[in-house]
Amino acid sequence: MKSKGTVYLVGAGPGDPELLTLRGAELLRRADVIIYDLLVNPAILRLARPEAEIISRGKRTAMPQEQINQMMISHARDGKIVVRLKGGDPYVFGRGGEEAEALAGAKVPFEVVPGVSSIVAAPNYAGIPLTHRDFCSSFTVFTGHEDPADPKTNLRYEQIAKIPGTKIVLMGTEKVDEWTRSLIAHGLPPDTPVAIVESGTLGRQKSISGTLATIAALAKEKKLSPPALTILGNVVKLRDKLNWAENRPLFGRRIVLTRSRLRMDAFSRKLSELGAEVLEIPCVKSAMPDNKNDFIDAVLSLNSYDWLVFTSPNGVSTFFDFFFKRFHDLRDLGGAKIAAVGPATAAKLHELRLQVDAMPKEFISRNIAEAIAKNGSIENSKVCLLRAENANADLPRALEALGAIVDDIGIYKTVAETDDFFGGAKNFLEHGADWITFTSGSTVEFFHARFDLPGLMRKFPAMKIAVIGPETRRALRALNVELAIEAKEHTTDGLIAELLRIK
Ligand code: SAH
Repeated sequence: MKSKGTVYLVGAGPGDPELLTLRGAELLRRADVIIYDLLVNPAILRLARPEAEIISRGKRTAMPQEQINQMMISHARDGKIVVRLKGGDPYVFGRGGEEAEALAGAKVPFEVVPGVSSIVAAPNYAGIPLTHRDFCSSFTVFTGHEDPADPKTNLRYEQIAKIPGTKIVLMGTEKVDEWTRSLIAHGLPPDTPVAIVESGTLGRQKSISGTLATIAALAKEKKLSPPALTILGNVVKLRDKLNWAENRPLFGRRIVLTRSRLRMDAFSRKLSELGAEVLEIPCVKSAMPDNKNDFIDAVLSLNSYDWLVFTSPNGVSTFFDFFFKRFHDLRDLGGAKIAAVGPATAAKLHELRLQVDAMPKEFISRNIAEAIAKNGSIENSKVCLLRAENANADLPRALEALGAIVDDIGIYKTVAETDDFFGGAKNFLEHGADWITFTSGSTVEFFHARFDLPGLMRKFPAMKIAVIGPETRRALRALNVELAIEAKEHTTDGLIAELLRIK
């Protein structure tokens, strides 16, 4: 297997992280060094190993091409697996060919992994197929970056204007005035349907349509900016019928997620599939509890409990990670019954093939205690709560009120997360959002400590807040911040249902 000391030029796809190829994903997981361009969505970097060195080519002060080439070559010569990520497909504009030449010249082994080019992806996400038997049977792609008036240009506008079929213009926003005028001057009908797609396939995608004569003014009016591509031709007329992406129910909504990085994925994916632009700003993470001894004692005396109560999926993972370090047989768990607070916690237990004996419908302390009590009297039962250190005392109190003997064991503690892994926080502070979602009281507290929630609400007055349930609502009320919606069912699905209802 060729892998060490190799450079992989990998097409990162057009923006939507899901459009990365399987080969690209595999190589990202393996890479020692990753060098990526501005066009690449950093969200795909989550696939990288934590030890991987990640280098951004930078924005305003882009690293010169020669330096990038040298960097790839020297890391490969050090025996590293280098992944060079390029937007879309590496061999469509963007200098992939030149980089490959440099590697070949230096005799460094390389492989080029194709990517989904914006050429096909951005029109698709704006409802436009590039060919269609009713309209055309070819398409032409050219750059709009060269000045049509420049005698040195490689482009022959007089010929482009005459080619039948769809035309796609990359890098064309800056000089849209010039090249549209040139095409008209060379005979392309001014009423040719035209669309421009900015940030295609991303949650923040914007698109406009007009004609060859009107599109330049429209692009200015709507302040379109790169990356954007333009599609010319009758296929643009199909947009009204085929615009599956922009017609998704949450398209155009910017939604902030604040839960821990480990629990972000499913929630984030569901919202993206509904068309939302998701800003991931994890504000909490879990750490070892300050007092580990109680946890150790509890694990060593599991047999003495009648009930084990889990209150979060993280609690389940933390507990079993520790349990399996001590024991090698699931039967050492003993015969205690198991209660789970909420379906996500129950699902985590089911993954381990553990049945849940009690799960309250509503996730408030009284109901949890009652759900357990439904299984028979809990008077004098020994109950072990396996949850966050210093969690709210309501649950043990409610259980004790029913006669239980409760050990409240802190198996992890929730602390602030301050890393901005994928640039979500930076983006948010610059542009705001439509919604901030909170899925626990601690995310509210840590988010506020990091960003000053009331201050942000003043800065972005249109922004609204959605919470998962009563505990989160109380945390907001403590900050005097107004809440727009609270999930009826206290799950992330319940929260999504409310977002869909209100929009
Ligand atoms: N290799 C890339 C293209 C690089 S040239 C690819 O295959 O997609 C950069 C140009 O690509 C941008 O100026 C823009 O015209 C286009 N582009 C890249 N990503 C885009 C996106 N998400 N939406 C619209 N256009 C995009």
